[in-house]
Amino acid sequence: MGLLERFGLNGKVAVVTGASSGLGVAFAKGLAEAGADVAIGARRVEKLEDTKRAVEATGRRCVAVRTDVTVVEDCQALVDAAMDAFGRVDVLVNNAGDGGEYHPATEDPPEQFRRVVDLNLMGSYWMAQAAGRVMQPGSAVVNLSSVMALTTAKMPAAGYSAAKAGVLGLTRDLAAQWGEKGIRVNAILPGTFITEQTEHYSENYKKAVIRARVPIGRLGELEDAAATVVFLASDASAYITGVGIPVDGGVLLT
Ligand code: NDP
Repeated sequence: MGLLERFGLNGKVAVVTGASSGLGVAFAKGLAEAGADVAIGARRVEKLEDTKRAVEATGRRCVAVRTDVTVVEDCQALVDAAMDAFGRVDVLVNNAGDGGEYHPATEDPPEQFRRVVDLNLMGSYWMAQAAGRVMQPGSAVVNLSSVMALTTAKMPAAGYSAAKAGVLGLTRDLAAQWGEKGIRVNAILPGTFITEQTEHYSENYKKAVIRARVPIGRLGELEDAAATVVFLASDASAYITGVGIPVDGGVLLT
């Protein structure tokens, strides 16, 4: 295989959760552009259908399944749908997640902390379990952590920071468990990307964040994250497992 071919995903099948908006849409499209057929899951079916059309516009196949990743049976059903449609699962991108509400710790409702951990951490595990049962040697899992796993944005986000740090622990343990099965498990740590989760940021706040925390001098473009996910999904990263790669314009240097 030539070096550049290692970056391609021709003949592979990817599963992407949270593909109804933001980064998940860019991951589904990016993986398809690299050659993969894609199975996508999220709760909002109409928005998933938009992503499905965008994937199909690249010439690849797509199956969309309503999925709540906090429901173990839904996670199994998404992987089953990928197997039924395409006969294999080579790549899982555990993207579904959100930051929850920001409350000072002494006022944080237990239900909000539980919900954030349930979604960002446990949902990733249920999906990895289902995919790990069918993945063959040469497969790859990419988990979505966050720079918030390693630093703070000086906002009260205990649940989110803990969940995203937990995702790094999950990444390491699954990588160690599955190395000999030929399944690699890595994470990315995005900085700030403008998606539904962050679109409420004012222009002034964005400028202040960039000035204070982003050496590269701009917020992330969705394709910055998608390119890294394609790399970690592909044989170009065949000897990389158990790590978290920041995609943050240098936030973690500050
Ligand atoms: P968005 O809010 O744009 O997208 C989140 C996605 O997750 C949606 O597609 C949503 O779909 C899905 N989702 C939420 N809850 C569930 C659920 N229970 N089951 C299945 N899907 C669910 O956020 P982003 O694109 O910004 O975030 C994507 C990932 O990247 C998240 O894990 C986030 O924590 C991480 N991240 C993002 C950063 C950023 O700057 N944007 C920075 C660091 C990390 P639906 O509502 O249809 O279910």
